[in-house]
Amino acid sequence: MLKHRRKIIVATLCLCLCLGITPISALATQDPPRSSPAKIDFKFEKVDLDLFGQVNLLDKRFERDGLVYADEPTNAYLQRVGESLVPRDLKLEHVVWKFRALRDPVPNAFALPNGSIYVNTGVMSLCDNESQLAAILAHEITHVLRRHTYLQNRSNRKKILTINIINAVGVWNPVGGVAGLAVGIIAAVSPFILVSTIYGYSRDLEREADMKGVDLMMSAEYPPEEMVKILKLLNNDIEGEEIKLFYNDHPQLQDRIAYVSAHLGSKADKATAASELKREKSAYLTNIQGLMRHDIQLAINAGRFRTAVYLSQKLTEFRPESSENLFWLAESYRTLGPRAPQLTEKELTNSAKKDAAKKREKRTLEEEERDLLATEAGRQNWKTNQQKSEELYLRSLKVENPTPLDHRGLGMLYEKEGRTKDAIEEYQKYLELSPDASDRERIQRRIQLLKGLAS
Ligand SMILES: [Zn+2]
Repeated sequence: MLKHRRKIIVATLCLCLCLGITPISALATQDPPRSSPAKIDFKFEKVDLDLFGQVNLLDKRFERDGLVYADEPTNAYLQRVGESLVPRDLKLEHVVWKFRALRDPVPNAFALPNGSIYVNTGVMSLCDNESQLAAILAHEITHVLRRHTYLQNRSNRKKILTINIINAVGVWNPVGGVAGLAVGIIAAVSPFILVSTIYGYSRDLEREADMKGVDLMMSAEYPPEEMVKILKLLNNDIEGEEIKLFYNDHPQLQDRIAYVSAHLGSKADKATAASELKREKSAYLTNIQGLMRHDIQLAINAGRFRTAVYLSQKLTEFRPESSENLFWLAESYRTLGPRAPQLTEKELTNSAKKDAAKKREKRTLEEEERDLLATEAGRQNWKTNQQKSEELYLRSLKVENPTPLDHRGLGMLYEKEGRTKDAIEEYQKYLELSPDASDRERIQRRIQLLKGLAS
């Protein structure tokens, strides 16, 4: 049951980027036509200041609970890209721009109205270049510039909906992993923020964030068509998740792709030297490879094995001689177990996804593996994935500066295959090469256990 709840949270986390909330469409259309990217005539009222207090508290909680990815160079990079998109000489009351990565493998991003913008490691890893990251940031920056959170918070209808959300969230209790943790914290501090920042704003406000986001990108010399490309990447359903909608009638990613493309029109082809540079994949991956490896670990922990394979494949193509990259690809295939690395078209149909979601409610990942191993296809996948994984660990050990973690991976692989002697040997090599390993005790216990079995 808990598993089920977590899955729902994980699925709904995707919504901010994908969907808006339909009920209030009046907010955006009431505004007169404007030239400033920001809503400069916004006057703070008590209700807004109360919300401002709540979001400042949220920032502190995210940090305190270890959700913020703590790597200085990566955060400095993120901050640099974010700040380059914010219109210069624009001073907004109660806004300090802070761009941070959130340790969550689900592709999502959200903005708090105080200027704190959070991008999940899951979406940063999915982006193929800096311009795509800029597209996401530009969308979120617009929510802050146009004061969307405050505007939506002022709506009474919204508050009624919020009560329903509080009730729904009240029964959820995500356990394990990092995915969904942000939801729990936001729900505890400010259920309204949960609605607007995680589940999205009204359709009109989301559309405005896309359109104005395109303008911000162009002002900062980012090729705006990369926004369409990241929307397409987000639309690529690697995990075959059935997204549970709180409200029907949301604009789908396909809609966004269509209207952003139409909005771009002739704007799309004015590429400059600077914009070409920002489209470069290898420059981007150089900046975020550490974050990506961290995200792959988070994805595996969250049972998002196909995503882990997809991302580590991308890293290995980028630097095939990196032992670490090969290690992560090996880990991804090992943990993929009896699953196929890609879902078939049939598995991606709505009815198949619905069935899969129902099964996920009832089974743990271990039970799923056991059931799959009872089928011929599952056994075949398992065999292929284990072979691939072994090859990759061995290849990783042959390149320069091999990581001792390969031995641990091989140990786990052999242990599962029942190759007890080989498993013990690999575990021992791992401990020899990394005497300070944080999982030393755990591995020593495995060795003892295996020795018991062998004797
Ligand atoms: Zn949005």
